[in-house]
Amino acid sequence: MKPLIEVQDLAVSYDTYAGEVQSVRGVSFRILKGQTVALVGESGCGKSVTAKTLMGLIEKPGRVKEGSRIFYEGEEISGYDETKWNGFRGKEISMIFQDALVSLNPTMRIGKQIKENLSNHFPKIGRQEQENRAVEMLRKAGIPDAELCMGKYPHELSGGMRQRVMIAMAMITKPKMLIADEPTTSLDVTIQAQILELMQELQEETGMSILMITHDMGVVADIADEIIVMYAGKIAERGSCREVFYHPWHPYTWSLLNSVPRIDAAKGQKLAAIEGNIPDMTLPPKGCGFCERCPYAMNVCREYMPDGAKVREGHEVWCWLTDNRADKSGLPFRIERNFEAKGAGISESRSTGKEGERAAGAGRKTDGR
Ligand code: SF4
Repeated sequence: MKPLIEVQDLAVSYDTYAGEVQSVRGVSFRILKGQTVALVGESGCGKSVTAKTLMGLIEKPGRVKEGSRIFYEGEEISGYDETKWNGFRGKEISMIFQDALVSLNPTMRIGKQIKENLSNHFPKIGRQEQENRAVEMLRKAGIPDAELCMGKYPHELSGGMRQRVMIAMAMITKPKMLIADEPTTSLDVTIQAQILELMQELQEETGMSILMITHDMGVVADIADEIIVMYAGKIAERGSCREVFYHPWHPYTWSLLNSVPRIDAAKGQKLAAIEGNIPDMTLPPKGCGFCERCPYAMNVCREYMPDGAKVREGHEVWCWLTDNRADKSGLPFRIERNFEAKGAGISESRSTGKEGERAAGAGRKTDGR
């Protein structure tokens, strides 16, 4: 299947007084039509910056570095000027953010904001038609009294309703892709589930792709076809939702999965926090970005960047644990096979260590896809 979006070797930096902050350092991925891809990682790992580049939203002091290429339906969009981006963003790809109250205009009624977004991209649509479409879209977004909502200001709505309005506003132009940047973080779990369900319903109806940006592996399990785990501006692991949940290979993915609340956890059991902080991206590590926090870091990890290894079909990992050139003699678990031969797999019985056992059992929810 042809990809809707293809990103090749994307690198984004911010020039600051402290130096060049290397937010994204050579990221490549593709998103197929109708696919939901989750970009996962802690704050500051580069996932939001990556998403912004797809909308042409990197502003000074940020810059997309030379050699980065982005294709949309086969056409290179990375070289677009501002006029072209203005015609593209909001029409072909729309974006919703965590805080609808900040994203919506507080001084403008909901209806006007939605209609304005529509008329910006489709100026030939008449006023009555704009009104009809806005009301219909609000209804689809699950707003019970859509006509009444049209006349309200954002502060008159609850957090969940505002997020629905944001989705309606993003969807009114029938974009081929929706980027959702932590769309449910500020909502309680019930509303969170409703918003995710709404996004899936709209996806089924329109066939759009979704790029979900989140730090929450629980959210990912419900919605993603594919997961891309990012750390320190690079991809650490990627694969289908099932692969990453049931056969995670990167120690950072293990940590992320271990920090998700589990229904079968013992009473009083504390959630595992990831010790340490993300690296200073003005001076990113020479080798693996996770080496300062990784309990299995070897000498080679500090000196050299790991190559990507295909651990199973459609599942890639960037970690020295999968490379037979690394000396793994000091590790608390054993890896029985290596990945140097393309397509080779690691034995499932690799682990005898505590962390490894946790990792092996990290999958906690089938995606059913
Ligand atoms: Fe840990 Fe080394 Fe793998 Fe990085 S490359 S995650 S430091 S084992």
